[in-house]
Amino acid sequence: MSGKNYMNVADARQTLLDALAPVSGWQSVPLRDALGRVLFRDVIAPFDVPAHTNSAMDGYAVRIDDLSPVSETRLTVVGTALAGNAFSGVVGKEQAVRIMTGAVLPHGADTVVVQERVRVDGDIVVIPPGQEAGQNVRYAGEDLAHGKAALNAGKRIGPAEVGLMASLGVGEVAVRRRLRVAFFSTGDELAPINRPLGPGEVYDSNRYTLFGMLTRLGVDLVDMGMVRDDPEALERTLRDASGQADVILTSGGVSVGDADYIRELTARLGDVKFWKLNIKPGRPMAFGRVGGAWLFGLPGNPVAVMVTFQQIVLDALLRLMGCDPLPDRPLFKAVCVSAIEKTRGRREYPRGTLFNEDGTWKVRLSGNQGSGILSSMSSANCFVVLPETGDDIVPGDVVDVQPFEGVI
Ligand code: AMP
Ligand code: MG
Repeated sequence: MSGKNYMNVADARQTLLDALAPVSGWQSVPLRDALGRVLFRDVIAPFDVPAHTNSAMDGYAVRIDDLSPVSETRLTVVGTALAGNAFSGVVGKEQAVRIMTGAVLPHGADTVVVQERVRVDGDIVVIPPGQEAGQNVRYAGEDLAHGKAALNAGKRIGPAEVGLMASLGVGEVAVRRRLRVAFFSTGDELAPINRPLGPGEVYDSNRYTLFGMLTRLGVDLVDMGMVRDDPEALERTLRDASGQADVILTSGGVSVGDADYIRELTARLGDVKFWKLNIKPGRPMAFGRVGGAWLFGLPGNPVAVMVTFQQIVLDALLRLMGCDPLPDRPLFKAVCVSAIEKTRGRREYPRGTLFNEDGTWKVRLSGNQGSGILSSMSSANCFVVLPETGDDIVPGDVVDVQPFEGVI
């Protein structure tokens, strides 16, 4: 399987990344609209976060030098510091200030003793020994330092980044121009979903999985519909797509049987390479330039579309979107409870269901693994990632799994 005509997944991904650079152009958008976009410039902290040294707990602000390390210390409470309402005086020798979480640490004090650990006796607070200098204090700038980059250009903006920019008072964000992706399906057998199927027809589902994945990625979509296996129709659609999009994504028509006339067609329109990937499901894929756009020609089988998109094309699109660094997609170990036939030399991505049994993470195959079987993709929550070098899996083997979803 790993003959010289086959390309490994890692090589395919690297070839794409080497060829691609982020699209040019940026715009300024209101903070909430920046969610899912990619930062065009560093966001510089205009002040320290937190802006003031403050208390992490409800308790008493004290001076560590006043405290006896071996016995109780009695301090006089001289005031109260509330979040949003600071104590304006100075904590002097053998004094303390009652302080609430988030309140500015008063001048003179350097340490907070939590209220559960003290005894109060009128205006005297009794502090037990064993306190440490600086405990329960959040220092100005410990989250973000004034003048430093709080976020770097290339960062994909998620909920934490939106919140972080809000904490800096940033209301407008410079984000890279949205990537524009035209996509269509090819095949004489395809039918639109709004009419009954004719003999030998299948509904065009790929355009919907692609719609789903591209929408989640946050690109502008140009849905160009279905195109018959007809060179003229294909040429018209490719020209049209290349005139209005950064990227053209197609499904179907790139396998050996179809490739010849597409090869001839794309040779006229640009420069496209046809690969046989060392992957299952997947295998055929095309990549290159058509007019002003990058073409990614995915296989036709519905699961192969999803696997090649997620394992190869996704990083390429993120690179075009300006994402830097590209996110790592973690692999975890799980005990496989299914037997899996595996062809040595080929990288395989069977889909699985990850579950916890008695505290151990295990994975089972989610159903029929045919490359057209979307139901087992839907009932799965992960890929089992079987590298080129491996053989058949027997129940009890530890395998790598890649969850479909993250925390948010
Ligand atoms: P192809 O790569 O064009 O030979 O297609 C391979 C298989 O995928 C065939 O069984 C096709 O019917 C199926 N297929 C191709 N395109 C689609 C599509 N858009 N939606 C659902 N199935 C498709
Ligand atoms: Mg076809």
